[in-house]
Amino acid sequence: MNAEECLTLAGSLGKPKISKEMQEIGIIHDGAVAMKEGRIVAVGKTKDVAKAFRASYVISAQDKTVLPGFVDPHTHLIFAGSREEEFQMRLEGVSYLELLGSGGGVLKTVKDTRRARVEKLVDLGLERLDAMLTHGTTTVEAKSGYGLTTADELKILEATKRLNQLHSVNVVSTFMGANAVPPEFQGNTEEYVDLVAGEMISKVAEKGLAEFCDVFCERGIFSLQQAKRILLKGKLAKLKSKIHADKMSLFGGAEIAAAVDAVSAEHVLFSSVNGINALANKGVIAVLLPAVAFSLMMGKYADARLMIDSGVPVALGTGFDANCWVENQQLVIAMACHCMRLTPAEAITAATLNAAYAVNRAEEVGSLEVGKRADVLVLNVPNHKFLGYRFGVNLVDKVIKNGRLVVDREKKNEPIFMSRSD
Ligand SMILES: [Zn+2]
Repeated sequence: MNAEECLTLAGSLGKPKISKEMQEIGIIHDGAVAMKEGRIVAVGKTKDVAKAFRASYVISAQDKTVLPGFVDPHTHLIFAGSREEEFQMRLEGVSYLELLGSGGGVLKTVKDTRRARVEKLVDLGLERLDAMLTHGTTTVEAKSGYGLTTADELKILEATKRLNQLHSVNVVSTFMGANAVPPEFQGNTEEYVDLVAGEMISKVAEKGLAEFCDVFCERGIFSLQQAKRILLKGKLAKLKSKIHADKMSLFGGAEIAAAVDAVSAEHVLFSSVNGINALANKGVIAVLLPAVAFSLMMGKYADARLMIDSGVPVALGTGFDANCWVENQQLVIAMACHCMRLTPAEAITAATLNAAYAVNRAEEVGSLEVGKRADVLVLNVPNHKFLGYRFGVNLVDKVIKNGRLVVDREKKNEPIFMSRSD
């Protein structure tokens, strides 16, 4: 209670926020949130909430900002190994596609991940979820795609399922067998697409291991036709569509996203005006990943201003993977402001409510509204404009997950995780 600013993000009427709505973050001065049994039961002025409810436990948010837990709608959470050597080589001038050609890049991560047992992948995932939670992320999407055989993809999705059970962060699972063409299918992409669209999707669906299907649609990787074929096959198996679109070049992925009624098109760095209009017309969410463009040192970012002006619902994600190792949505918000000219309010909308829509969780999270899950952040800043403005340190004071205090940085230097089963 007594939050200097309480950001409710309320009032989206069942749809992600677009255009000027993205500025409306529902600020309540001297705000309070009441929670019971893991749910929000009241949001309003402190005096009104305090009159209506007698709490057994009260957290003061004096001089602080309260808002919904961040939703990270795009990660490749599970991989083994690391690629710091490659980072060094890229700094020395080797291009990403050259690295890929020599068996580096994603193919190195595939090799390391195939070798790892499921238990190892779960341990790695838990560490990463701890880091995300400490920085305020309470719901995260996780894509497979470093296995690229049926067994290895199922192994990654199984690890994802266990992480969702073990950790208090909610993990939404996406099958992305078409993340890369594996070495044993080099020069034979069509045959690999047969495997993904056939055996892989049917096994994933049969075991109920994913909610979304995603494809890396890019020149020299998976063609527009191949992406469409995989996504439509996924839809038949009840997997909703996401697509990595126009990440490295203008290729037409945004148009494919609109054509298959995808929930989201991700990256959309090089998308054309036509592609952006197609997203707006179909209400496809653009998941923008400025940290990925930053880590690839592209010197270019998605045209977020044009997208917002065109009515595309915009969300923000970390793009966490072996190449872009960032767990912190606060830093992504800062990048969105500095590199793509979003205002702090727009960036907050993009990293909470619109991100929740991008992972089909907006009925549960993404705003502080009665009935939603009590995933709430207390930030150690007096107003929302500090997000983006002050960056490089963790602004989180407390994280409340399902109504329980799981991170408290005020009293202790280290976060406490009360969520583990052990
Ligand atoms: Zn990605």
